[in-house]
Amino acid sequence: MKRGRLFILSGPSGVGKGTVRARLFEKIPDLVYSVSCTTRPPREGESEGIQYRFLDEETFRAFAREGRFLEWANVHGHLYGTLLEDVERQLEKGKSVVLEIDVQGALQVKEKVPDSVMIFILPPSFQELEKRLSARGTEAKEAFETRLRNASSEMSFSGRYDYSVVNDQVERAAAEIEKIIRNEMDR
Ligand code: 5GP
Repeated sequence: MKRGRLFILSGPSGVGKGTVRARLFEKIPDLVYSVSCTTRPPREGESEGIQYRFLDEETFRAFAREGRFLEWANVHGHLYGTLLEDVERQLEKGKSVVLEIDVQGALQVKEKVPDSVMIFILPPSFQELEKRLSARGTEAKEAFETRLRNASSEMSFSGRYDYSVVNDQVERAAAEIEKIIRNEMDR
């Protein structure tokens, strides 16, 4: 059976990755989302195993030492990682998998799996990003400022990605990414 492909979605906090991704999964239902592990505490409305697997730092670091992560990184002061066994199981079944991870993780994956497809989601402008992140209101002031500071450094990596897509409008951006994914899946 043909192995599935690995798709990496990255972009700064507040760019609308989650919304675009949800739209994308409606358009291509056979895609599988890889649920990451994190040491970040759950936000209101998040539950174990759905948005993330919430681990304490000791367990997370033990997983890392045991080589259970395809990639992992410290993002905005918390640890995030993709479990290798989950991804591998899906790819073997011929399923294509979407990872929504930061730039450090994306570069680790690309090195290990060179035919993975990296897609960067950009905001229409930095001002717009600031507005969206502040409207989301999920972060305390300090975390908000960390995320904003990290946004410009993350965006400077967009040139290393295979594709960049501007999220000016969710429907349009999701349609553009759908086209990229369908083309790559057919190759
Ligand atoms: P949030 O805390 O807002 O859910 O995610 C913060 C950042 O962590 C986002 O940029 C997200 O893409 C990234 N992230 C989520 N899961 C992973 C992962 O498994 N690995 C890496 N490297 N980054 C992740």
